[in-house]
Amino acid sequence: MTKVIAINAGSSSLKFQLFDMPEETVITKGIIERIGLNDSVFTITVDGEKQKEITDIPDHEVAVDLLLAKLTSAGIITSLDEIDGIGHRVVHGGEVFNDSVLITEETIGKFEELSDLAPLHNPANITGIRAFHNVLPNVPAVAVFDTAFHQTMPESSFLYSLPYQYYEEFGIRKYGFHGTSHKYVSNRAAEMLGRPLEQLRLISCHLGNGASIAAIEGGRSIDTSMGFTPLAGVTMGTRSGNIDPALIPFIMEKTDKSAEGVLDVLNKQSGMLGVSGFSSDLRDIETQSAEGNERAKLALDVFSNRIHKYIGSYAARMNGVDAIIFTAGIGENSDVIRAEVLKGLEFMGVYWDPTLNKTRGEEAFINYPHSPVKVLVIPTDEEVMIARDVIRLT
Ligand code: ADP
Repeated sequence: MTKVIAINAGSSSLKFQLFDMPEETVITKGIIERIGLNDSVFTITVDGEKQKEITDIPDHEVAVDLLLAKLTSAGIITSLDEIDGIGHRVVHGGEVFNDSVLITEETIGKFEELSDLAPLHNPANITGIRAFHNVLPNVPAVAVFDTAFHQTMPESSFLYSLPYQYYEEFGIRKYGFHGTSHKYVSNRAAEMLGRPLEQLRLISCHLGNGASIAAIEGGRSIDTSMGFTPLAGVTMGTRSGNIDPALIPFIMEKTDKSAEGVLDVLNKQSGMLGVSGFSSDLRDIETQSAEGNERAKLALDVFSNRIHKYIGSYAARMNGVDAIIFTAGIGENSDVIRAEVLKGLEFMGVYWDPTLNKTRGEEAFINYPHSPVKVLVIPTDEEVMIARDVIRLT
């Protein structure tokens, strides 16, 4: 048996999952939050029970020490030698990485170069990689990129209508994100449909705090809604999604903000939070909307309307669609959003069952049996994809 740990390091958090492979059994999982702030929170599942500790964790190095010490002290593993591989999520692989890769000093150098494209994410991911390397220098580590799956997009999809030399000189293009999730659910969809992935046209809707839609033809991403950064595409919890770019200087002038200031508004104060005026969390918005709050209802409508339109355009892009997939926090759980998104797609053969649509958090078909287009709910599992790639590459 092989033990593999999957790591997702953010700027102030570190999520982990320890697997027994190839069985893909989750031995433990958890999250360390508020790293670098006071009262950091370390949550870990031991023997099926969640344990929570509040303590000061100044940096990722200390977080990793604490995690590894806990794995042995709680009896989850007897010694650190039992860890055979580490998988790290790295947000941006640019055009350099179209697949996961074994981490070396050279690849870390490339991740650093790519930090220009993902200044909020890649440095945090690299910190996580280094922290593990210091403690477990001889354990092979693999990087799994959010962008890699979308590297199959044709140039006509990924290119912006800007001067071509911006692409050549600065790497300005659509990269797309959530690739690990879109890849996982498209593989599962083929299994659930009992058809080869190579024959399928799929539209995958990853709807969480961040949200993106992907058109997947024959198992390859051919278009996706996020862009050069994860700000583009559909409305999200706090992100605006696509807007008219001319609004940026206009808002700068009206609000006396810098470009960074406006970008901050687009990233953190827009989306469902901006429209509703009170929350980015869909559960709050659904509750308020049911109680008659007009702005909450508007936020729901704006969000679902954007997704609905992407589905129409991606079906056009692929000359039809065999299945639509819903995943991530909202896609897996919200019958309200799924209903709004799917309403009015009968013209292209989408017939969904309101009773089956009540499903929450588990794999299910929610279409009527006679529907030419199938509709699937599939809980995503990015961590297991990371663990699989560790096994594949080590
Ligand atoms: P992240 O992008 O942070 O990983 P998640 O995939 O966890 O996000 O999704 C978070 C979103 O899912 C939130 O808007 C949350 O309200 C929504 N969500 C989670 N559970 C439910 C539920 N039972 N009903 C409706 N929305 C839900």
